[in-house]
Amino acid sequence: MADTQHDAEVVEQPEPPPIDPETAARRAAALAHVRKFGDPVLKARALPVDRFDDELRAEIRRMGTLMNDAFGIGLAATQVGTLHRVLVYRVEPESPVNALVNPQIEWSSGEKEWMEEGCLSLPGVHVDVERPIHVRVRARDAGGDQILVEASGLEARVIQHEMDHLDGILILDRTPRDQRKEAMRALREQSEAA
Ligand code: ZN
Repeated sequence: MADTQHDAEVVEQPEPPPIDPETAARRAAALAHVRKFGDPVLKARALPVDRFDDELRAEIRRMGTLMNDAFGIGLAATQVGTLHRVLVYRVEPESPVNALVNPQIEWSSGEKEWMEEGCLSLPGVHVDVERPIHVRVRARDAGGDQILVEASGLEARVIQHEMDHLDGILILDRTPRDQRKEAMRALREQSEAA
């Protein structure tokens, strides 16, 4: 299980540092564009992209901006209501946004680890999820070129988390039953309070 507090809450929605009102407003606006738990689109399976045109590149740019504004480190197209097999992520604050189109896991390590994950679509929820530590992913970039990504640790985890979204799978589907029940209760209370 995740035992280091430092590693917790890393996926998609790390706790934001203290921010100025303008940044906070931009974050709230970005989060408002992200589909939340209960929206049926989050359970849908996204379709492969077959047109690598300006529209796709604009979609990827929008997703990158939204992810950054929301202080996320990953975002899947299904989370903004687009059923395309597209995801963006950025695990290093200073690096450019990575985009994977039609990603497929070519290989994953037998070695796995548990870590606490959060999700922009599940505000306030953090649950433990076990995933392979290393993955090799085949995908296309925004221009349609084949790319091969070898990822480990947090990067591998984010990619797998976002690829789950493309198949309609949420962290609630992957966490132990007791944590799932606890998270469902928190989500229910939130929606009643809203
Ligand atoms: Zn997520």
